[in-house]
Amino acid sequence: MVNSAISGFYRLSIAERRDILKRELNLTDDEMRLIANMGSLEEGIADRMIENVVSEMEVPIGIAMNFLINGKDYLVPMAIEEPSVVAAASNAARMARVKGGFKSISSDPLMIGQIELSGIPDPFGAKFRILERKEELIQLANSRDPVLLKLGGGAKDVEVRVIDENNPMVVVHLIVDVRDAMGANAVNTMAEYLAPRISEISGGKVRLRILSNLATYRVTRSYAVFDKKTIGGEDVVEGILEAYRFARDDPYRATTHNKGIMNGIDAVLVATSNDWRAVEAGAHAYAAMKGYTSLSRWEMNSDGDLVGYLELPMAVGIVGGATVTHPKAKLMRKILGITSAREFADVLGAVGLAQNFAAIRALASEGIQKGHMELHARNVAISAGAKGEEIDRVAEIIVRDKMIRVDYASEILKKIREGTKG
Ligand code: NAD
Repeated sequence: MVNSAISGFYRLSIAERRDILKRELNLTDDEMRLIANMGSLEEGIADRMIENVVSEMEVPIGIAMNFLINGKDYLVPMAIEEPSVVAAASNAARMARVKGGFKSISSDPLMIGQIELSGIPDPFGAKFRILERKEELIQLANSRDPVLLKLGGGAKDVEVRVIDENNPMVVVHLIVDVRDAMGANAVNTMAEYLAPRISEISGGKVRLRILSNLATYRVTRSYAVFDKKTIGGEDVVEGILEAYRFARDDPYRATTHNKGIMNGIDAVLVATSNDWRAVEAGAHAYAAMKGYTSLSRWEMNSDGDLVGYLELPMAVGIVGGATVTHPKAKLMRKILGITSAREFADVLGAVGLAQNFAAIRALASEGIQKGHMELHARNVAISAGAKGEEIDRVAEIIVRDKMIRVDYASEILKKIREGTKG
């Protein structure tokens, strides 16, 4: 039995931690070589990124091709262990090019910091008193981050919510433009700094001070038209629309549908060392705002082409966090060729839409495959000697029985003729 309560593990060097694992678990020399293999992430960096470091985990990085977004071409690095995600994204992006590729619009990078107040006898009075001092609070918050301020970002607004009027809790939202950062640290620092003053103004006790991952002000909207002929014709368009309606109306399906969207987005986030859990949490919460549903919308336009639309919060950064400490993440950003968090969000929205298209097209095409088999069954019936009305009757039975073979068709044909005779 391994002892997991080794005190001071965090104080040891990486080599010492590995030695403990070797001793506790009888690791072989080969296993020790494997654990010591650190790739591009130097031990000195890794050991400062997280705690109790012993190794690193490699995931293949593939480049998704063909992405044309807002008129610009992108090579999209995706780090993912799941097969077919990169191929599916590339294929979808190739089809989207026919009608001009993807278009994305990302809002200002506005994040929400929450400050929770309790023990307030007059919650609406407190709300008023806080709003009255909005400008003072914004200035106070901005005194914490002159860099952000200089870049045109910083605290922009204060909102106050009273939640649960029976057991009132006052929650202050500090709205911060975090520019090219994901922004959690920036916002948390400001929220913590404001807390004592807000407590004074409101007369309440401050408890939590933390960013909300439901970044409803930092949303990316992506759009693409898929040419109906390119994607396989009217049946495919109809199949995709039906798959979408299924996801729209059924949370069990919507969860998997949205997982497909996140397959693409997460892979790019991992490749660039972004906080994919933050984007995941935001995406699913956004999908659940009016009862869990599809993050994307699919429609047919007046030309019969397929129109895809995706909208979700996108709190991502090209500075801050691990985006700059991880050397490979920096390189991936260079390959991607983005210059702002907003442009990055534009790309991610397009990747999510492409991935969603690829997944539902494949699913819908299986239905089409069934249609093809039904057509094929008629050929089989004809080969077995069926004539006129016999063809459809034989075809129907061999499809129903899932035995689309000439010998079975002959057997059925024989029975039908005997039955007809009898
Ligand atoms: P950060 O604090 O490392 O970087 C942001 C800071 O960089 C800004 O405050 C600013 O001073 C400076 N900066 C320099 N150039 C900038 C530019 N062009 N645009 C914007 N800022 C610039 O990181 P962060 O983005 O504030 O926080 C991200 C990290 O927080 C991630 O590692 C994330 O995992 C972590 N985190 C997340 C949560 C959560 O999601 N709930 C909570 C806590 C921490």
